[in-house]
Amino acid sequence: MNKIVKNLGLYLVLILAVVTMVNTYLTPEEVQKQYDEISYSQFLKELDAGKIKILQIRNNTTPGESTSAVIQGELDGGQRFLTYGLDVSGLADKAAAKGVMVTVEAPQRNVWWATLLTSLFPTLLLIGVWVYFMNNMQPGGSSRMMAFSRSKAKLFLDNKPKIKFDSVAGCDEAKEELQEVIQFLKDPEKFKKLGAKVPKGVLLVGPPGTGKTLLARAAAGEADVPFFSTSGSEFVEMLVGVGAARVRDLFTQAKKYQPCLIFIDELDAVGRHRGAGLGGGHDEREQTLNQILVELDGFDTDKGSTILIAATNRPDILDPALLRPGRFDRHIVVDKPDVKGREEVLKVHMKDKQFADDVDVGVLARQTPGLVGADLENLINEGALLAARRDHEKITMEDLEEGIERVMAGPERKSRLISEHEKKIIAYHETGHAIVAKILPGADPVHKISIIPRGHAALGYTLQLPEEDRFLMSKSDLMNRISILLSGRVSEEIVFNDVTSGAANDLERATQIARQMVTELGMSETLGLVKLGNKRQEIFLGRDISEDRNYSEEIAYTIDKEVKTIIDDCYERAKEILTEHRDLLDKIANVLLEREVLDSEDFNKLMNEGAEQSDLPPMPDIRVDKLPKSNHDFLA
Ligand code: ADP
Ligand code: MG
Ligand code: ZN
Repeated sequence: MNKIVKNLGLYLVLILAVVTMVNTYLTPEEVQKQYDEISYSQFLKELDAGKIKILQIRNNTTPGESTSAVIQGELDGGQRFLTYGLDVSGLADKAAAKGVMVTVEAPQRNVWWATLLTSLFPTLLLIGVWVYFMNNMQPGGSSRMMAFSRSKAKLFLDNKPKIKFDSVAGCDEAKEELQEVIQFLKDPEKFKKLGAKVPKGVLLVGPPGTGKTLLARAAAGEADVPFFSTSGSEFVEMLVGVGAARVRDLFTQAKKYQPCLIFIDELDAVGRHRGAGLGGGHDEREQTLNQILVELDGFDTDKGSTILIAATNRPDILDPALLRPGRFDRHIVVDKPDVKGREEVLKVHMKDKQFADDVDVGVLARQTPGLVGADLENLINEGALLAARRDHEKITMEDLEEGIERVMAGPERKSRLISEHEKKIIAYHETGHAIVAKILPGADPVHKISIIPRGHAALGYTLQLPEEDRFLMSKSDLMNRISILLSGRVSEEIVFNDVTSGAANDLERATQIARQMVTELGMSETLGLVKLGNKRQEIFLGRDISEDRNYSEEIAYTIDKEVKTIIDDCYERAKEILTEHRDLLDKIANVLLEREVLDSEDFNKLMNEGAEQSDLPPMPDIRVDKLPKSNHDFLA
């Protein structure tokens, strides 16, 4: 509704108010209060008696109705009276003949529209107030009412994203994976002709600030297609059903602009495991999730060409239904950048700024393990701000180094600065895991070793991936696992003659496995084939496991003793291996220290160089996205 109309409405209301007031306050009734009402016959009597001094006759003629009249007058005594008459023709003459001063007023015609407006006024007033509030509440105008169930996806139509992959530093694997999607969006026909099935849904997985949103936009930019960007949290509304309606609307809109790319950020906001959380049952989020699943199943990449990219940093809490084939079946990991990656990100954001000669990007990159792209961008900005405050002509290394401190100590405090010594310990710890995993027979191959901090707890990690799905684990497999878990701590002990708190998670998991072997898997000779304790799994807040104890104190003591024996044996085993291969441990730990990340290829090469006589076969490279998630094994 535009302004003029709105003002017109206001004027109308004002006019109505005035009309009503005039009508209400100046009605005859108000005047009549000063008059005594008498009967018509009484009036005739007074008239006959000649007691009337003044007489006013006013005809009230409503069209189509019989004539009636209001008769007012004053008696000789000064009292005023009022009465009503029906047929007053001749009354005036009669009264005049009696010497009364008579005035006759013209009939007062009721203006029909005034009557109508007056009677409708309260209703109109209410409507006016309602329209007024609706307009004020929703700044977008009256159409906003209908837009409630519309998707808030921002469409970059006329300006399809202009950024390209070159504004995204590092993330080479992710870019390569997205290339397929881009080619498809560019020329869907080519793919259709060949009958090639392109993934409908791509899930970008990685910690916040690593450039997932940026990658998605750049992918649309590379493909030169419209980009619909929305966030999972926008689907979560107070009103049940709104989220689902928005999902529907989003896909309907997108279909009009094919080929195009839809991006849902923070998918975990809607895609959480159904049945988890307080109350459990059917809630709004669940409806929304179902709608997404329906749309995903419904849109056929054969007919059009829409690709859905979603991002999350919590793939673990996503509903498994989302990850099924035909849905988000392609996962692309966007991890925190390593030294090289950080250097590249820094360079991208340093492009349009002036730097002093002493600025060394390589040094900055080495000083910032654990920082993500967004942090690095922030770092450069903080440096620039400091330089400006200090009136530097160009941004200096000092400015930037203070920038690092600011970013790291910032309100979010995502990661802390790790000292060189700490880094060395972490490198040895992780290398210890990796070497023992490599040497023990039957252990899953090492996929990646990293000393880039992940989250709060883990400072580094070693990722093992099984070559095939396993359903049976032998006792020696389990013992090996425990040895591998303990080897981080063992490595610290051998090299530094001291231990750190970094192995807490390893110890917990090792103990858990050992306990399971004793109480559930019947792998303890002393206790035999008994299952001890009952596990209960509850889906309440997340998933909880609690235990019912169904054995005696004595058995409990034996369990603990058995667990300790297993752990001790495994520990000795790890210690033997690492002592024997101390040279390998030193060599690989130092390479890791320098490079921060080692993939399986590098690691195997280093291992094989060190042990020429090694008869271990080379390790196949396994891609993360091809494996069921439950098999990923992070050793912290
Ligand atoms: P995410 O979506 O993973 O949380 P974003 O894509 O929103 O992260 O990244 C936030 C900002 O950080 C980006 O706008 C970009 O400026 C910067 N950034 C993050 N990663 C990179 C990168 N790999 N290269 C360049 N800039 C990056
Ligand atoms: Mg984002
Ligand atoms: Zn560890």
